[in-house]
Amino acid sequence: MNKYSVVVIGSGPAGYTCAVRLAQLGAKVAVIERDYVGGICTNWGCTPSKSMIESAKIARIVREAARYGVNVSSFWVDFKKVATRRDEVIHRARGVVTRLLQYYGADLYQGEADVVAPGRVKIRRGKLELDGVKMQYTGEENEIEAEHIVLATGSRPLMPDFAKPDHPYIVSSNRLISIGELPETLTIVGGGVIGLEFATIFSNMGTRVTIVEYLDRALATLDPEVSHAISEELKLHGIRILTGHRVLSVEQGYISAENRATQEVIDIPGRAVLIAIGREPVIDKAMFDRLGLACTKKGIGVDDYLRANIPDFWAIGDATGKSVLAHVGAQQGLVCAENIMAAPGAPLRRMDYDVIPAVVYTIPEVVSIGQVPAEDESVQSFKVPFSANLRARIEAYEEGFVKIWVKDHLVVAAQAIGHNVSELMQELANMIALKTPAHAVAEVIHAHPTYSEITRTVLEYSLGKTTDLIMPGWPPSA
Ligand SMILES: Cc1cc2nc3c(=O)[nH]c(=O)nc-3n(C[C@H](O)[C@H](O)[C@H](O)COP(=O)(O)OP(=O)(O)OC[C@H]3O[C@@H](n4cnc5c(N)ncnc54)[C@H](O)[C@@H]3O)c2cc1C
Repeated sequence: MNKYSVVVIGSGPAGYTCAVRLAQLGAKVAVIERDYVGGICTNWGCTPSKSMIESAKIARIVREAARYGVNVSSFWVDFKKVATRRDEVIHRARGVVTRLLQYYGADLYQGEADVVAPGRVKIRRGKLELDGVKMQYTGEENEIEAEHIVLATGSRPLMPDFAKPDHPYIVSSNRLISIGELPETLTIVGGGVIGLEFATIFSNMGTRVTIVEYLDRALATLDPEVSHAISEELKLHGIRILTGHRVLSVEQGYISAENRATQEVIDIPGRAVLIAIGREPVIDKAMFDRLGLACTKKGIGVDDYLRANIPDFWAIGDATGKSVLAHVGAQQGLVCAENIMAAPGAPLRRMDYDVIPAVVYTIPEVVSIGQVPAEDESVQSFKVPFSANLRARIEAYEEGFVKIWVKDHLVVAAQAIGHNVSELMQELANMIALKTPAHAVAEVIHAHPTYSEITRTVLEYSLGKTTDLIMPGWPPSA
């Protein structure tokens, strides 16, 4: 029987990052994966969705090229090529993860892991079918031993009762993300991050998209101004958004939804329905009960150091329910690896969830960082529109704004909507995490003309001294 210091179950961003760091620190590591290497992020999530969003952005640019003086008489989206490119990007990303694991000497087992007892993991070996959707089990099983077991089993879409797996009109996000043909219409149940990103992809390529959201606004966890701004942008580009509606059923190509305020029921025609109401952790309940491992519906129970309730068991990534973001899982993977390899008696590294940048890859993008403090009179918010930024005016990306919340000259939270704000906002994330006073960054010279100047502008605005903005509402009334 092969013996390892650590077995990592799941090769998504959490699992593979953890395995690589463990190997760097000298551990003998095995990774077990029952699907494609790289997990949801590489194969069905971040990579394919952002690859298709890139095609959607190009379609938008071509459609609007005339405003830059470039006339394109006609164009069409060749979705088969979009899909081929997406698959090539996935293939490359998967190859990178595989080579990383190989380079650092982690053994990769293709099959399904079952922890039969602390320190003993059975692997049901198998091969993926060509489309990668299902594994063909070979009947072969083997067992490996490990001092530590890391559970990095990820998450899957949460499904309401009416969405039976064999429903003819309901498509899972895994299937929609790997689709080879453009649907004519698409109804998305859920106006959260995944719903809005799919709406962006398909509407820009020519699909008629309707979003049905239970709550009163899309992206309801964000600041109302941000949520309103992105909804208006999406509507402007042809996406129908029904908020405050509860989906009752999906039948015969019709979705019945009830207006929660008036109880009026409407039928929305649509042959493809994506359910995007959230995700749930992948937990093998029978295994957890057998071992006495603690979990809830939200995720595997872990402490601040990623330890499960039983010694030498650890859990990371979506499966812990702490977040459903790849970069949070990867960070947990690093922290977990360093804690497993910590010298006896050495202090463990605490996983810090305070400052998490979260991006919605719509057109334009939306970002949020940190917690907006509720009802704290000592906190002030400042908002600067992109129309105040020269680069945005030059490139005609004036929609959106950056908004910060400041307490005692420290930025405590930031949200933004605008062109490529995902690349812009890390400066504010670093300031929040490092508790850098607003003046310290405002005094640093920012290149001109750049989008990043807006960060300096909003910081200067909070200090009452911006020179590139007519300061609305400054100084604040007593
Ligand atoms: C459409 C979509 C778009 C997304 N876009 C983004 C984005 O832009 N940015 C972002 O940060 N996040 C994004 N996410 C979320 C991101 O994909 C997840 O947060 C991330 O993949 C979680 O990583 P993980 O390692 O915890 O789990 P996963 O990536 O889910 O990997 C877990 C792996 O464990 C394997 N596994 C489970 N059980 C077993 C078992 N018993 N034996 C062997 N293997 C097992 C699974 O097969 C899987 O490969 C997106 C998700 C979706 C669905």
